[in-house]
Amino acid sequence: MKAERTVLGMKEAISRGRWVWAAPLGYRNSRSHSGPSLIPDPERAPLVTKAFELYASGLSDRSQVLETLTGLGLRSRHGKRLSAQSLHNLLRNVVYVGRIKAARWKTEHAGDFAPLVSESVFLQVQARLSAQGRDKGRVADDPRLPLRRFLRCARCDTPLTGSYSTGRSKKYPYYHCRRGCKGISARANVVEMTFAALLQGLQPRPEYLRLFNAVVLDAWKTERAHAEEMRAAYEQRAEDVRRNLQRVEDAFLIDRSIDERSYWDMRDRLREQLALAEMTATEARNEHLDVEGVLAFAEHVLGNAAALWANASPANRRQLQTALFPKGLSWGPDGFGTAVTSSAFSLFEVSKVGKSRVASPPGFEPGFQP
Ligand SMILES: [Zn+2]
Repeated sequence: MKAERTVLGMKEAISRGRWVWAAPLGYRNSRSHSGPSLIPDPERAPLVTKAFELYASGLSDRSQVLETLTGLGLRSRHGKRLSAQSLHNLLRNVVYVGRIKAARWKTEHAGDFAPLVSESVFLQVQARLSAQGRDKGRVADDPRLPLRRFLRCARCDTPLTGSYSTGRSKKYPYYHCRRGCKGISARANVVEMTFAALLQGLQPRPEYLRLFNAVVLDAWKTERAHAEEMRAAYEQRAEDVRRNLQRVEDAFLIDRSIDERSYWDMRDRLREQLALAEMTATEARNEHLDVEGVLAFAEHVLGNAAALWANASPANRRQLQTALFPKGLSWGPDGFGTAVTSSAFSLFEVSKVGKSRVASPPGFEPGFQP
């Protein structure tokens, strides 16, 4: 009966928006019964918010977010570094948008506490996490069928799959419609040669390259601002450590309030922290300075898409083809259907390849060579 009463009590408290468990990272349990049940942990709450913002920005992947946050001092309640899995769980937790999800009772209630993350940032993070899950599956795909699922059936619009022929002769890979539409099946080498020819046709025009450079410079400025923020945070940290070092020296040399052994211990530890903070601040300062190098590389990528694709690793091939044609391509008896290039590539002159045509999002008119 007591257990039952406890469960009822918990359910009732949750429905009033009260957090009834140990506080999640970034919060502390409130001791008072009036007011919010969770209060932001002044040290960790800003770091949790930062984790969401960094990941939502798309500029850092999960391991980079973890590295950055650990560097900024984020630790678990037991003072340990966060694992990749706990960061993942944190990024999935609706508590940070102020909700209480009780999986046990399949309920979700608005909490009585302040969220640490805005709804829109949270949604961006969820979308990125789901997309990454999908990418993982893709990387494990057969390297001999790089265009699988990137191509769609011209008749029924289903993503094409790949298989190996089971004939008497040597097995060869081919693409075909999962629903078995007629005339769609084709040998992988034929499809890939046609695709390579399409890539060959993507040629940047000089005036558009200048525009492209402007776009990259703009993205670079955003990245710079991020690095600058990091640098400031680590310099601040270095400053704090320096002050602590001074305090330890005073305690030992002037006040004589600590013994020699503690002094050496603390001093070594603090010097180590100082070196780390200074190093990271310097790294952040030097990062992203080679924008000309980056632009030269981008120009190279844009002008040599066909060669790059041909020589890329399977995972990079998929990345490149999706970057060039974000919506994939349709494949039918006449070859590729209308190709929608990415907005970066809509800035490029595209020559006609076979029976394919290239269309651009509204606002860009691609040039056609006769
Ligand atoms: Zn089909």
